[in-house]
Amino acid sequence: MKGYDAVVIGGGPAGITAAMYLARSGCSVLLTEHMATGGQILQTEALENYPGFPQGIKGYELADLFTAHLEGLGVDRSAVTVESVSGDAGQFSVRAGGEEHAAKVVLVCTGARHRQLGLEGEDRLRGRGVSYCALCDGNFFRNQTVAVVGGGNSALEESLYLAKLVDKLYLIHRRDEFRGHKIYLDKIMHLSGKIELVRSSVITGLHGDNQLTGLSVKNLKTNDERVLAVDGLFVYVGSEPATGFLPDGIACDAQGFLVTDTEMRTSIPGIFAAGDIRSKLCRQVITAAGDGATAAQAAFVFLEQLHA
Ligand code: NAP
Repeated sequence: MKGYDAVVIGGGPAGITAAMYLARSGCSVLLTEHMATGGQILQTEALENYPGFPQGIKGYELADLFTAHLEGLGVDRSAVTVESVSGDAGQFSVRAGGEEHAAKVVLVCTGARHRQLGLEGEDRLRGRGVSYCALCDGNFFRNQTVAVVGGGNSALEESLYLAKLVDKLYLIHRRDEFRGHKIYLDKIMHLSGKIELVRSSVITGLHGDNQLTGLSVKNLKTNDERVLAVDGLFVYVGSEPATGFLPDGIACDAQGFLVTDTEMRTSIPGIFAAGDIRSKLCRQVITAAGDGATAAQAAFVFLEQLHA
């Protein structure tokens, strides 16, 4: 078992930033990420609101820049999934891929994964018309008809991306008002020839055995139900945190996101959380990176107190 001052779980903007700050402070650090480092920005075509890039920057380019910042800092990397965190501050055990790593502190930066709609056939049709990643799968639907469901920034942003590829797009949202930023909605309104807004409506059924062929959509105001013929459905109905590997009893909010104080301390001493996994108002790359820096600094102070 190798021992570290800090094990950082999750290699998105929060985890990369935390690992970088801790390593620069002289701590030994293991960064675990079971996918490619960069996190959800790898599934984002472009970011328009990251300061310093007024023309926008491709998601993968920003992810590469974040990852490059770790070079030469001596951060150990592991590409396996963390199964559990146990023990107490100063002597945590992080189990990943069957191996145990000792850690004095743990920083949880695992972000959140896409929520499913929970409709019958959703799992069966995943990859057969149902997708959770426009950037990964959009190209399969070139010149076809697709639907996007959701009313947040992800649904709006990904609709704009998909509109460049497809012939027709239905944007289905359960309310009249969208919670995503107005700047995206304005752009969508300008594409009214291609994007049709289906407001106050929910998807009640998925059609197709081996391939999605259509959706049953119900208008919540009129109760009218109709079938939309679509080749693809992109689901952007929010995200869920993955915290199952953490000790029982760690404080979470009603949605399961980790509760922290302003210094990113969770309810368990020595375990910090940063980024989208936290219970918070604003989930952005910039706030994830900011959380990572704060968590690293708080963890560093905690380590100093442990050593005192
Ligand atoms: P979100 O903001 O939580 O929005 C989820 C949307 O899905 C909401 O409109 C919600 O409707 C709808 N919804 C939830 N459950 C549903 C269900 N079962 N059936 C139908 N609709 C359902 O999630 P997100 O868009 O993935 O964004 C996550 C976070 O990342 C947010 O903080 C967002 O601002 C941020 N983000 C930012 C950017 C950017 O700034 N460029 C881009 C992407 C994401 P209601 O509105 O009725 O609740």
